[in-house]
Amino acid sequence: MNNSKLKLATTSLAGCFGCHMSFLDMDERLEALLEHASFDRSPLTDIKTIGNCDIGLIEGGVCNAENAEVLRQFRANCRILVAVGACAINGGVPAMRNQYSLQECLEEVYLHGTGIVNPRIPDDIELPLLLDKVYPVGEIVKIDYYLPGCPPSADTFLHFFEALLQGKTPELPRETLHYD
Ligand code: SF4
Repeated sequence: MNNSKLKLATTSLAGCFGCHMSFLDMDERLEALLEHASFDRSPLTDIKTIGNCDIGLIEGGVCNAENAEVLRQFRANCRILVAVGACAINGGVPAMRNQYSLQECLEEVYLHGTGIVNPRIPDDIELPLLLDKVYPVGEIVKIDYYLPGCPPSADTFLHFFEALLQGKTPELPRETLHYD
């Protein structure tokens, strides 16, 4: 392991932040990790644009134009890009919307759903346009590693980082592998 710290960026696209919470579940072991790694752009920092990083962790699939743009920025700046969790890997629960058309989804939520006042589909130019489907990140950019689980456990993150810090190819122990 060299002396310079790994630069780490994270983001949540069409995710629920549960994968980030599981990352934080490393608890005091996070402190040990941070002796060898520092954060660049992440929901855990106030850094707005991503710089050159060693590792990018992507939570969530891609459901809108902004997600796709952020994902491409991560790919362009991260040496190793990691799809974290079921949503990033295969779209996850949000991809259940793929069985309906986008128009059907928007109408159900904003026009015909229960309790709606002033029915109107939002069209402010500031809002990112939704894509026709929710996509796994691997369908948009090349991904180097996948950490399965909804979310992956803190131990999964630990095994992954320990291997990288030792210059090894990460291999997840069987007991850390799950998809739920
Ligand atoms: S994989 Fe699960 S925990 Fe992670 S963002 Fe998706 S729904 Fe949330």
